[in-house]
Amino acid sequence: MQHRHLLSNEIDLLLDGEAGFGVAPLRAHVDECADCRARLDEARLVADALERLPHLAPRTGFTERVLSRVQIVEPWHVAALNSARRFVPESRPLRAVALATVGLTSVAISASAVWIALSANLTVGSATVVTGRMRTALVAGFQQALEAVLGASATQALQANGSVAMAAAGVALLAAIGAAALGFRALASASRQRGS
Ligand SMILES: [Zn+2]
Repeated sequence: MQHRHLLSNEIDLLLDGEAGFGVAPLRAHVDECADCRARLDEARLVADALERLPHLAPRTGFTERVLSRVQIVEPWHVAALNSARRFVPESRPLRAVALATVGLTSVAISASAVWIALSANLTVGSATVVTGRMRTALVAGFQQALEAVLGASATQALQANGSVAMAAAGVALLAAIGAAALGFRALASASRQRGS
């Protein structure tokens, strides 16, 4: 037999009628020990009383009602992602339009930044050799891009006006407007499909 009194989890084992390898010595102890027998009888009384209590089922929607009152703390990155998602349209054509709008805005911003930088440089003059070289490289890049898009003669005419940067911005804007137009066309065809 076991030479110590039973622990409460061991009494639970006997109460549940467990028949495992370790239960036989516990049962042997209870047979010999009046103390533990009394505790087991008490536990059995409580278990029986609990079993006789009316079994209640919660009303439907109980879980939802409780959870609606629970304040769930959202990590900041999840919250940021969710609020960003709210601004993205559901349908594909609308997404294209939104993308084109964002592209248009960023092109306009960067083009005006380039224009400001160039015109500031032209008024002040080449303050240092480095900025002068940077400006030359930038203008040459724009010229090449413009020649590719518009042809050499048009580029020369634009250069005569000294508005290469503005022309480049114009080309970029045209590209973005084209993308927006494509988005609108997709939107129109989608709504036509929905209508038919
Ligand atoms: Zn005992």
